[in-house]
Amino acid sequence: MDSERIEKIISDYGLQKFRANQLKDAIFNKHVSSYDEVSTLKKDLREKLKEEQPILCLEEHKIYKSSDKRTYKALLKLEDGRIIESVLMSPKPDHWTACISSQVGCAMACTFCATGTMGLLRNLSSEEISDQVLFWRQFIKKNGIDARLNNVVYMGMGEPFHNKTKVFKSVDELKNPETFNMGSRHISISTSGLLKPIYEMAERFPQVNLAISLHAANDVLRSGMMPVNDNFPLDKLAEALTHYLAKTKRKIFLEYILLDDENDSLKNADELVDLIHKIKPSKLLHVNLIVYNQTDSAHRQASRENAVKFKDYLIKNGVSTTIRKNLGRDIDGACGQLAVLDQK
Ligand code: SF4
Repeated sequence: MDSERIEKIISDYGLQKFRANQLKDAIFNKHVSSYDEVSTLKKDLREKLKEEQPILCLEEHKIYKSSDKRTYKALLKLEDGRIIESVLMSPKPDHWTACISSQVGCAMACTFCATGTMGLLRNLSSEEISDQVLFWRQFIKKNGIDARLNNVVYMGMGEPFHNKTKVFKSVDELKNPETFNMGSRHISISTSGLLKPIYEMAERFPQVNLAISLHAANDVLRSGMMPVNDNFPLDKLAEALTHYLAKTKRKIFLEYILLDDENDSLKNADELVDLIHKIKPSKLLHVNLIVYNQTDSAHRQASRENAVKFKDYLIKNGVSTTIRKNLGRDIDGACGQLAVLDQK
């Protein structure tokens, strides 16, 4: 459900305008999962809407819960039977983040990523994207989880900028004060480095957070892991990020998955320092080091020892860096693990 569909319901059913506000309040503030709970609507209208206008355009197919109860992964079935994954996680107490998908599969074919092995099956609509957030809000309420969903990250299945129009529309919906009412600073988009949308984002959503899946700081290594780098090499990416920083003055997060014997040496760390110093002002860049979550690919997780050495090297050279906590590993809900290979 989104504002566009509510407007359509109002016009198709010949309802008075104030009904739109009643629906929005019930769905986006009270997080009802059935029209039965919307007592402000007459019973016959509730029955009709129940039949004809599902509140969510996707349905729960399966839920996994991590053993520490800090991560939930949902397989969600779309109207055409395709299945996507969406994750709810709590990186720190009282903070809950929804990691949402923007495509079924992904065309970018990054070698370390489970989603990349699926290829692109289709783009999601804007409503299918924002409904994942609504799904998690309903889920929290239904299950009595003591949580408030604070943040949304576009880091699930798919390259968000490869489905830019629908993704940008869904960001507008998440920010809409009459529906999701989320602040821009609580929304993050992660890209493998499609350049034009970075320039557009700087204009259109200067307060929304930008993250770059970087993973290597020399072109040969990066192109081997991420074919997108062939078309958008690192010097062009550095230019785009410098432009973005000049426009927005907002921090950019660089995601770097540490792979054993591939990109985890101090030489690799040094290349990363060089790249970061080419992007101005480099103090606005923050590196998130991610210890690889094993998938079926040939890549191997870097050792903890190398991860710490890598981090210390970056910090010694003036680069703000953290090693990101891995949540949801036991349910394949962690970064790079999202894939549903058996699409009916
Ligand atoms: S890392 Fe992101 S862009 Fe690359 S294949 Fe996976 S989902 Fe696509």
